[in-house]
Order: sequence, then C-alpha cells, then structure tokens
Amino acid sequence: MSVFSHPEFDHHQRIVFGSDAESGLKAIIAVHDTRRGPALGGLRIFPYASDEEALTDVLRLSRGMTYKSALADLPLGGGKAVIIADPRRDKTPALLRAMGRLVDSMNGDYITAEDSGSSEADMRIIADITEHVGGLGQDGASGDPSPFTARGVFCAMRSAVRHGLGRDDMDGLRVAIQGVGHVGAHLARLLHEAGARLVMTDVDRDALERLAESLGAETTTPDGIIDADVDVFAPCAMGAALSTSVVERLKAQVICGAANNQLASPEIAGLLKARNILYTPDYVANAGGVIEIAWQRRRDYRREDVMSHIAGIESTLDEIFDRARRERNDPAGVADALARERFRD
Ligand code: NAD
Repeated sequence: MSVFSHPEFDHHQRIVFGSDAESGLKAIIAVHDTRRGPALGGLRIFPYASDEEALTDVLRLSRGMTYKSALADLPLGGGKAVIIADPRRDKTPALLRAMGRLVDSMNGDYITAEDSGSSEADMRIIADITEHVGGLGQDGASGDPSPFTARGVFCAMRSAVRHGLGRDDMDGLRVAIQGVGHVGAHLARLLHEAGARLVMTDVDRDALERLAESLGAETTTPDGIIDADVDVFAPCAMGAALSTSVVERLKAQVICGAANNQLASPEIAGLLKARNILYTPDYVANAGGVIEIAWQRRRDYRREDVMSHIAGIESTLDEIFDRARRERNDPAGVADALARERFRD
C-alpha cells in the first residue's frame, strides 16, 4: 500500500496507523493541514473491504475538512479518523477506549467528533480517555449537529436561488429532497415554514410518509426524485449522488444539499455548468455542524453568535457565485481556490 504516492495524499502533514490487539482496534488518523488550527474531523467506523479503501477514504475526507473549515472561517485545520470495523458488531467500549488513547497520542493536533458509525454516546466514552473530542453538546444539550447543518443548508439555498433563479424568497419554491434523515428532515421543516413546496424521498418509506404527512409534502421513489419537476434538487442522503446519468435527467436549475462529496467525479462540475445548473459546493453548504462544534470549544458560546456565524454561509456563497460568473468557472472550482487562498496564506 503506497502512502506518499497515493492519489489522495495531497501533502498530508501526518498519517498515523494505530492498532490494539486486545480490543481489535485497527484505525487510521489523517491530519491534512493544521496551519489554521488543530485538525477537527469526525471518526468514521466502517467495515472497509481493505486497508487501501480505508486509507483512501480517510485521506479524501480529512483534506475535505481543511477546505470546509477554511471557508467556514474557523480557526481549525482538517483531519479525519477511521476505524476498520462493523459498528453494529465490533463496536465495544474497549475498542473506543483504545481509539481514545490513539487520539490522545496526537497531543491535540487532531480533535475527533461523531461521523457515520459513531454516536454521541461513543464520543463520551472516548472523552473519558482524551480531552480532544468535539461535538458533545453545550451545557448538557444534545451534541447532534444536524439542526445546525440544516440551518446552514437553508442559508446556502437562499444564496443559490438568488444567483441561480433570481429569486429573493422561498415562497412557492419547488424543492426535491433526496433523503430525509437527520439533516434532510430538519431542512424540510425549515423550507416548509418558508413556504416552499416539497417533494421528497427516502429508502425508509415509513419515516418518509410520516414526515410528508406532517408537512403536507409530496413523496416519490428514490429513483423518481431525480426526474421531479422542481427548481432545486437537495441531495441529503449519500455521497456521489450526482453522476453523469443523474445530471442529464435533472430538471432543477439549482443544486443545494447537505450530502458530502456530492459530485461522483470532479468532471461533473463542468457538466452541471454546461447544463446551466447552479451547483452549491457541498462542503460550503453543509458547514453548519462543524461551525457549531467549533463554537463549543470556546468559553463564550452563545447560540445567537453560532446562528449568525452559520448565516455567514450565505455571503460566502454570494462571493463564490459572483466570482464563478466573473471568471466563467464552476462554483466547485472557485470554492476550492478560495479555500486554498485561506489556508495557504
Ligand atoms: P442520515 O443517515 O440521518 O440520513 C440520510 C437519509 O438518507 C436516511 O434517512 C436514509 O434512509 C436516506 N437514504 C439513504 N440512501 C438513500 C437513497 N438512495 N435514496 C433516498 N434516501 C436515501 O444522515 P444525515 O446525518 O442526515 O446526513 C445526510 C448527509 O449529509 C450525509 O451525506 C452526511 O455525510 C452529510 N452531512 C451531515 C452532517 C450532519 O450534521 N449530520 C453534516 C455534514 C454533512
């Protein structure tokens, strides 16, 4: 397994491989960049098919965190951790404590948090071993970042519909939401309150129908959402939602959602631009959660300040969309360039 010549290596500052025979821990911590501050990024627990697959995932995700934190104007760098394990079968307190020792050995260069496969309860076990844990909630409140992420996506959508559709409000805006889990459901409520007309889907039909009924929203199948006759398509389920075949079918003129790594490959950004569909760079739109976690690390946490920081996502996107238009570039390329200016200055 090559590391320094890995396609996703991108000059990572540190990559630490950790193992613990007793608990069965096999983990990788990747620290991409700490020039803006310590590297914050979630801990993903997943039964990767190979060590190579785990390495590729952790490198890609930690690099993404550097870009996300830079554009969210946070004093943080980018990092990520993965444990190669099935969270439903292999996750034990001993495994999490061993992970806590590995995180602690980074001496604060890496701060861990929840991600897929790890919960707030898991973070509390890790926090018994190391202080370098984020996202545990403020003053006993839940550490669930999804309401903050949804609020950020909502602010991002305001900018995107202004630039892509010339609209200043959401009243009557037709939005398709792909995935109404933690973030998607909160986003649906915010859009409903703002007067948007929703069509939504989820593989969990029961949860979908319950939510749709409470909001008076339409539902469709996971495949049907792609063809929905809407203004905005909001990917809020899995990564790589935007493939060539999906983009060719979309009727929406704006894409803005919470999912990470929405573009199945970098060329998709060009394809969206060619089809005149305005793409909202995912890591800018979905930064609300990490913004709140960053505020939890401060002594002067105030919910109003967190919310106004999250609202800043709208003006960051105004800048990105304006620059993309001036430079005839796609917004994803502009966001990457702007982030690099901020963490490499
Ligand atoms: P979640 O697991 O709670 O929700 C995802 C939902 O998508 C689930 O309800 C699932 O049933 C559904 N789904 C899965 N495959 C689907 C498919 N093919 N078609 C339709 N629905 C499908 O996750 P979440 O926390 O809401 O996060 C959603 C996305 O946003 C993820 O990509 C995540 O990485 C990203 N994200 C989340 C946060 C956060 O604060 N939770 C922050 C940043 C980014």
